Amino acid sequence: MKYDVIVIGAGSMGMAAGYFLSKSGKKTLLLDSFNPPHNKGSHHGETRIIRYAYAEGEEYVPFILRAQQLWDELEKETGKQVFIKTGVLNVGKEKSDFIQNIMKSSEKYSLPLDVMDSEEIHQRWSGITLPNEFIGCYEPTSGVLKCEESIKAYQELAERNGATILSNSRVKDIAVQNDAVTIKTDDKILSADSLVVTAGAWSGSLLSMLDLDVPLTPVRKTFAWFHAKEALYHHHHFPAFAFETPQGLYYGFPSIDGSGLKVGRHDGGEQINPDEAMKGFGEKQEDEGDLVGFLHQYIPNTGELKYGKTCMYTLTPDEKFIIDLHPKYSNVAIAAGFSGHGFKFSSAVGQALSNLIISGENDIDISQFSINRFKGE
Ligand SMILES: Cc1cc2nc3c(=O)[nH]c(=O)nc-3n(C[C@H](O)[C@H](O)[C@H](O)COP(=O)(O)OP(=O)(O)OC[C@H]3O[C@@H](n4cnc5c(N)ncnc54)[C@H](O)[C@@H]3O)c2cc1C
Repeated sequence: MKYDVIVIGAGSMGMAAGYFLSKSGKKTLLLDSFNPPHNKGSHHGETRIIRYAYAEGEEYVPFILRAQQLWDELEKETGKQVFIKTGVLNVGKEKSDFIQNIMKSSEKYSLPLDVMDSEEIHQRWSGITLPNEFIGCYEPTSGVLKCEESIKAYQELAERNGATILSNSRVKDIAVQNDAVTIKTDDKILSADSLVVTAGAWSGSLLSMLDLDVPLTPVRKTFAWFHAKEALYHHHHFPAFAFETPQGLYYGFPSIDGSGLKVGRHDGGEQINPDEAMKGFGEKQEDEGDLVGFLHQYIPNTGELKYGKTCMYTLTPDEKFIIDLHPKYSNVAIAAGFSGHGFKFSSAVGQALSNLIISGENDIDISQFSINRFKGE
């Protein structure tokens, strides 16, 4: 059978793309090495932060606002909750790029933001203690996405629209002409008019099959849940957070339905090969101590470690995404290199990929995510 579009990688970006393509009437096949949502890539661990006043730069804001609109629509269409409006507290030094970019984004796009000093923060959330030189930018309208639930919701709708999902089907080979694509898995040869590549940490090897040498670095990341008093840290009265500290950039989540407080570190991490077994949480000596050190200093009323996990980021050199058509093939769209901050955008990325395949155009400017910016690296 010939498909209109094959999507390689039915994770965060791919499942959303599958939904938008199938909604537009495209006969769509999604292939994944595992059975999404799963815990072997970049999308597991229950929750992801979505924030709009963006520390990484105001140029992301229109894309984030589109993403939130699409998350709201996903909830309406499925009747399932994927977004929890916990608010997000960003903490850092006033003059830092991190805080300044948040303030600029908020000003330019009129996003609600409460700027607070360390004392005001402690008065509002007594579970947080900060040195005087820190300030907080609290965004009351943003919050948390349930990551696996979001992927399941897009899967349900894509299948309802007639999309086919083949799990446990790892793509081994790709051949492209301008009007046709042939894909090989262990036991199948499949063909389509167009292709979407959304393979997360494995994107480098798949893109090399398409003659693209893109600088992508998969890294090991850790995160963990800690016992936490619900009176202080429950999501009804404690926000998700991102703290830029002298030790590193840490982020976390309130206790959601008794989960405990979840915390991770955004910067750093060891480069890995996604095809080799990665050390589990706690197998590296610093895994627990790093997170505990952060909590003791800034969120000191939390308790013992419950459990931790590992996951992968895929970094680009500038930590911006790649969302583009293949420079040689207009029937191949690529989304990769989400650099540890892509999940919140995945609804809008799925829509953008579908638009790239269908018309080659998008109503939101995605030129900042062009693949050509790495030429010569
Ligand atoms: C610990 C952690 C915390 C994070 N926190 C946040 C956050 O708070 N907010 C935020 O916005 N983002 C966050 N992110 C980033 C976000 O989760 C990722 O950017 C996003 O999930 C990447 O999506 P993806 O589709 O590229 O990869 P994935 O969701 O991993 O999907 C890729 C899929 O491709 C499949 N695949 C790969 N190779 C093949 C092949 N050869 N054949 C078939 N299928 C294949 C894989 O099995 C996988 O299912 C976090 C990431 C991690 C790891």
